[in-house]
Amino acid sequence: MSSLPFGPLPAHKPRRFVPERINLGDWAQIAPLFDQLEKRSASCASGADLERWLLDWSELSAALDEESSKRYIAMTCHTDDAEAEKAYLHFVEKVEPEIKPRQFKLARSYVTHPARRKLPEQRYQVFDRDTKTLVELFRPENVPLETDEARLSQQYQKLSGSLTVQFRGEEKTLIQMGRYLEEPDRPLRQEAWELVANRRLQEAGKFEEIFDQLVKVRERIAKNAGYPNYRDYAFRKLGRFDYTPEDCVRFHAAVEADIMPVARELQATRRTQLGVEKLRPWDLAVDPLNRPPLRPFEQVEQMVSRTQSIFAKLDPGLNADFLRMQHLRLLDLANRKGKAPGGYQSTLSEARVPFIFMNAVGVQRDVETILHEAGHAFHALAARDEDLYAYRSAPIEFCEVASMSMELLGNEYLEAFYAAPEAKRARRTHLEGVVNIFPWIATVDAFQHWIYTHPGHTRDERTAAWLELMARFGGDVDWSGFEAARANLWHRQLHIFIHAFYYIEYGIAQLGALQVWANSKQDKTAALEHYKEALGLGGSRPLPELFAAAGCKFEFSRATMAPLMGLVHRELQGLG
Ligand SMILES: [Zn+2]
Repeated sequence: MSSLPFGPLPAHKPRRFVPERINLGDWAQIAPLFDQLEKRSASCASGADLERWLLDWSELSAALDEESSKRYIAMTCHTDDAEAEKAYLHFVEKVEPEIKPRQFKLARSYVTHPARRKLPEQRYQVFDRDTKTLVELFRPENVPLETDEARLSQQYQKLSGSLTVQFRGEEKTLIQMGRYLEEPDRPLRQEAWELVANRRLQEAGKFEEIFDQLVKVRERIAKNAGYPNYRDYAFRKLGRFDYTPEDCVRFHAAVEADIMPVARELQATRRTQLGVEKLRPWDLAVDPLNRPPLRPFEQVEQMVSRTQSIFAKLDPGLNADFLRMQHLRLLDLANRKGKAPGGYQSTLSEARVPFIFMNAVGVQRDVETILHEAGHAFHALAARDEDLYAYRSAPIEFCEVASMSMELLGNEYLEAFYAAPEAKRARRTHLEGVVNIFPWIATVDAFQHWIYTHPGHTRDERTAAWLELMARFGGDVDWSGFEAARANLWHRQLHIFIHAFYYIEYGIAQLGALQVWANSKQDKTAALEHYKEALGLGGSRPLPELFAAAGCKFEFSRATMAPLMGLVHRELQGLG
């Protein structure tokens, strides 16, 4: 693949099972490897045989994963390259659907394998429970229902993505309209906000219809799998072994008690600074002092070298990791024509190295993104000596601790990008974002708890439940005249439609990241040592142990949240 930003990557280990010369985009060449693994599982008599078998399976999974990643990277780096797109789509449409049932068969033969009991229990505890759950939840009658769910999800995405408005004589997507909410001109902001809100409202009936169907399909999936409701099913499906719905309810209560006062205070400050009587929905994204946007760098090379200097101050190991990524050309960061939007970190699972993709244009958001994605990259590098493929990545609740911690830790050294007052401003904006995301996470999560524990609810009851949450977590924003927009605000939250229940992970992780940051205020070196140690565990231990290794508690009630918010509050006061 010539269109990759990096050259051939040194293999972490020579292959043992997958042939050196194989086309991993050709199912006919891959299938015999699955055949062999299926056959061999029967002849694994000892624990050692079974472990060897697991490692060969890991090698195959990693090779296939890397093939998929490379094709994805090539496509997103060159959206104008028809060959690259064809190669990626071929893999997704022709190879992956063949792989999935075969992976499932291997998982099932592992779960029922007589030699499994001979494996060291502690070592395989996490792998066992994940694999067992995967197998236990499987119901053939749910396969067509999951297809229905995917189809409905796609309808949501299509509908959301198709919406445009006419603004000042030009057709604009709703995403493009977002930037007008940062304009100092208040009537302009209001005009832009109203256009978008009204455009969504025009489709409210369609959003509700899609969602009604999604809820029905999900309820049936849960019933088929033997669960009383979809919430309980989703907790299993998402591998939430270490926390319960009740823990999430405690999280909501803690946000209300300990974060809402800080969020309200920030809103009051914003209102005063803006000099307005009431904060309206279009007043939330603009700089409250009407300052021009921060400009942290001109050239992407500056972003890289300044980020490097932050890591140099933080930790020699992380500094070396980031240098290594540059040498291997594992960064494609500049915005240019022909690149897909957004940013991501992807792991090349066989070489066991990370790759970072971004569209940097010289704004503060880019600095946050590079620190965030670098945190994910450090995670991949820290766990690279783990031979079991499944253990080289952690659950999302901890992956985001790796990345969000790096945002908080890196932000201590923003003087690499700015003079002191601008650095303060950037830190303040970041911390305000940390505070403000919690109420939204609580709203989105609590809403879904309500939905899936109230089967047969009507649309009116659902709206009432949403409005109750908006009252708890919306703070002091005046929506008068826009009641319908407020009642339907959840239509814009993609997760509610296409990734049910997947959202509180970010809140759980942020609590971990805040603890890492709080620890670093006491002892930076020790905090970073714990951080790296925890990253090095990959996904080999349950969440509470990963958090403990990082020096954090895996606990999200008021006892954890209150002191962390106290720290954030003091920091914000210090930043003026
Ligand atoms: Zn992330």
